[in-house]
Amino acid sequence: MFQIEKIGLNKDAVVVVVIGLVLLTGLALIVVSALNGSSFIAILGVSIAFWSVLLVYLTPTKNVGINLLNASASTCGSNIERSLMEFNLTGQGVYLPPHNLQDFESSLVFVPTEPQTPLPQSNQANDKLFTKQQNGLLFTPPGLALTAMFEHELGVSFRKIPLPEMQKAITKLIQKLDFAEDAQVQIRDRTITLEFKSSIYNELCDETRKSQPREHAQVGCILASAFACALAKATDEPITIQKDTLNSGTKTLTIEYRLVEPLPKRILSQRGNVKKQPNRAHQQEGDALASG
Ligand SMILES: [Zn+2]
Repeated sequence: MFQIEKIGLNKDAVVVVVIGLVLLTGLALIVVSALNGSSFIAILGVSIAFWSVLLVYLTPTKNVGINLLNASASTCGSNIERSLMEFNLTGQGVYLPPHNLQDFESSLVFVPTEPQTPLPQSNQANDKLFTKQQNGLLFTPPGLALTAMFEHELGVSFRKIPLPEMQKAITKLIQKLDFAEDAQVQIRDRTITLEFKSSIYNELCDETRKSQPREHAQVGCILASAFACALAKATDEPITIQKDTLNSGTKTLTIEYRLVEPLPKRILSQRGNVKKQPNRAHQQEGDALASG
């Protein structure tokens, strides 16, 4: 079991406290100027108070970006929902690993028509909705753009991050993007559990569960999908989302992933022992994660 260290600092709270202190300083100077009749202190106090109020409006909020993301994710999700209903697919979506894809850096989720259907291989064209054998649908994962954004922030592809380093990667992402207060990663046998506390994606997860229940259960909401892409790349193994539960009391989003095959020992081994293609670049991941 691996656990990532907790992020104790809430950046929004720090900004509010700093702006509040500046405002109080400005108001205190105005009171002092009234007591001793100094126009200089009065002007200084009014200026500081004015700028502190202005800062409240200038401080960027994450809600604008999230609202845009909610709108685009909802459109993508509704197309997946309609396709799952149209073809009456009930199976769990399998996030394909790089060695099953023509483009190693992309991601696809395969929803089979029947259980135990063989996964599409990299030598088969996977730019169509239906596989060549007509044994399932291939969707662009709803979290693909978010995975790309995470990789951009990390400065490295998830293909180059071994599973034991995932804890460090998510810690870094939370510090940079502030999309949750805290995250924990647990790896047990074939199950990988991610826990996000007070994530900004909680509302979208809840909304997807209600409006696109099939997509949420079979393919996953945006955050679950983004990390399914990441884990499929990091392990180079097919991955499904088993559970995605939101505890409204603790505001904790728990996503449980299952490796379709038992986790090979090479993946749990420390860096430098990785042999299988195309994830041989695992050996160089440490430098990229350590920087910044
Ligand atoms: Zn969800």
